[in-house]
Amino acid sequence: MADMREPIESGCPDPWQYLHPTMRKNFGQWKYHEHPRPGVLRHVAYSGDEIWTVKAGTQRILDVFTLRKLCDIGDQFADGFIHFTLRSNIEYMVKDPAKVEPLIQALEGAGFVVGGTQNSVAMISHTQGWLHCDIPGTDASGVVKSMMDELIDEFKSANMPNRVHITTSCCQINCGGQGDIAINIQHTKPPKINHDLVANVCERPSVVARCPVAAIRPAMVNGKPSLEVDERKCICCGACYPPCPPMQINDAEHSKLAIWVGGNHSNARGKPTFQKLVAAGIPNNPPRWPEATAIVKRILKAYKEGARDWERVNEWIERIGWPRFFEEVELPFTKYHIDTWRGARASFNSSSYIRF
Ligand code: SF4
Ligand code: SF4
Repeated sequence: MADMREPIESGCPDPWQYLHPTMRKNFGQWKYHEHPRPGVLRHVAYSGDEIWTVKAGTQRILDVFTLRKLCDIGDQFADGFIHFTLRSNIEYMVKDPAKVEPLIQALEGAGFVVGGTQNSVAMISHTQGWLHCDIPGTDASGVVKSMMDELIDEFKSANMPNRVHITTSCCQINCGGQGDIAINIQHTKPPKINHDLVANVCERPSVVARCPVAAIRPAMVNGKPSLEVDERKCICCGACYPPCPPMQINDAEHSKLAIWVGGNHSNARGKPTFQKLVAAGIPNNPPRWPEATAIVKRILKAYKEGARDWERVNEWIERIGWPRFFEEVELPFTKYHIDTWRGARASFNSSSYIRF
């Protein structure tokens, strides 16, 4: 195609080539869309063309056999065009409305769940954890599986006041989630240093530079160059662990889960909202994480019952106020919820327009 950009070595390829022909033809020319049933969208273009999208959840970490199965369904029951959403849902595009029902039946017959559109609980997005990363303190995908098993009816229906994005994250510092509800790891003890290994494994100046509160100093221990941590300053973030694995911070007992609410990216109409901590010290309890799941379900229940139509979680809380939110979800409000960290001035930057 004449106007495709040159391929580059990294990054995703030009998506234009993969678009359904009806989407290419009507690019930027869509008149409206509607939501005939959960999991299905109908887009109508000014030209009169229409395209139907059927969405199904996947387990995100996909094996090649499942991928083949999903692609075969696309070839057989759709028009051979698919795409994956950021939340690991697969979407099939079809031009003919008569294909929608057989496609849904084929997906459900193969064990996939159709849903995740409009005012549903979308698939929980998670970081990769044990699969490819070297620093996870929990298995984020396991947390997702356990929670989605209990929330699946809210994925299949569209009964929430508005869309709910839930995220999980398996460390505290990197691809941590920003969501209406986020379940993130929370370390509660400073790292334990294996002084025998530091000199061989770690670049000490880079580790010192990594600490956001300047709690790490070079030190000689047992005659070997090593590091020491000022535990009064340490905020247990875990940032020193990736460049220096001998500074072990993951701990079966002291690495907990924390739940945050109200995070939203900015869009054309509003500025971003930062998520706020509402529950901490929740046991990191595989294989089903029942304590964290129970809290998420309480928050969803209170939101479903209390929010007005189209209010997102953060808008609902802003309207009813934080004291009432804590009452409704039966969580204690403690002094630890208040951000008193001396560096918090930087985290008060809540708008993309004003910086200080
Ligand atoms: S959240 Fe942290 S541990 Fe999990 S995949 Fe991202 S960087 Fe790795
Ligand atoms: S855990 Fe974070 S605050 Fe503590 S020493 Fe490591 S980098 Fe610094």
